Amino acid sequence: AKEQGRNGFSFYDASMDHFAQRQVLLDSKLRQALEERQLSVNYQPILALNTGRIVGAEALVRWRDPELGWISPAEFIPLAERNGLIHKLGDQVLAQACSQAARWQALSPLQIAVNVSSIQFRHGEALCQRVLETLDRTGLPAKCLTIEVTESLLLDNHKDLSATLQPWVAHGVGLAIDDFGTGYSALGYLQRFPFSKLKIDKVFLNKLDTSAPDRSLVEAILAMARALGLEVVAEGIEHDWQAQFLRQRGCHFGQGYLYSPAVTAEEFERLLHQESQH
Ligand code: C2E
Ligand code: CA
Ligand code: CA
Ligand code: CA
Repeated sequence: AKEQGRNGFSFYDASMDHFAQRQVLLDSKLRQALEERQLSVNYQPILALNTGRIVGAEALVRWRDPELGWISPAEFIPLAERNGLIHKLGDQVLAQACSQAARWQALSPLQIAVNVSSIQFRHGEALCQRVLETLDRTGLPAKCLTIEVTESLLLDNHKDLSATLQPWVAHGVGLAIDDFGTGYSALGYLQRFPFSKLKIDKVFLNKLDTSAPDRSLVEAILAMARALGLEVVAEGIEHDWQAQFLRQRGCHFGQGYLYSPAVTAEEFERLLHQESQH
């Protein structure tokens, strides 16, 4: 309302107020939700593309506020990164995911993937320690855990990141580069850091049928991953032709709505039981 009479400006101001108000509201609600441990974790199956069997799951945080309803992680994760709550949030997700995955080991030797924000790496050594403690406490074998990080981690100018990550590598915790190709990745990063997996972002899968450049890009990523000895997981597979394309070009793993969205722990367990009967 600073620029009265200029509709464009007053509209802009009003929407900024609205955004700021929502942030303040979400800030206090998220604080409380973490205090009361109200966040839950859903699990999206990761499948072996050649057999169609579930080999793992990605843990994805879920938050339902009694008044506001479901709030998307795309909204509250960036907020948690700004206000510092991401550390507590990340710890709670990790603890839930690891104890759940430890229980599932009796059914199947599943891999569990947990997203870790680059902000959490600002206290990288403490983070590393807590992850190893969580594995210890839950009894989940280190080789069953993969930490997913995005390329922004590599840009964030963390000195000695490689050294920080060494304890995980030594214990056998996997490290995946998430959303590969969407950021500013220099390929050199892939060699400098101890990644074991690469996740192809869903934006590259959308136009595989119509876009020759997208096809070439996915083929190039797969060839490069093979050369570097990285496992590849394709995300956002929604159609069978996408799965077929990927399978034919040596992409071994995938996740997406074609198979299943992220589901509750109970539903995921039902999927595992269903599978063991076939
Ligand atoms: P992401 O790590 O790239 O996770 C994949 C997102 O794609 C998830 O969204 C998932 O539900 C969605 N997805 C899966 N299959 C399909 C598909 O076939 N088509 C489409 N269109 N989408 C699909 P979600 O759960 O809303 O999470 C959004 C983002 O929020 C995640 O992207 C991740 O960056 C962040 N996030 C979620 N949980 C956590 C967490 O515990 N910690 C941190 N640091 N970030 C998290
Ligand atoms: Ca991820
Ligand atoms: Ca991703
Ligand atoms: Ca993403």
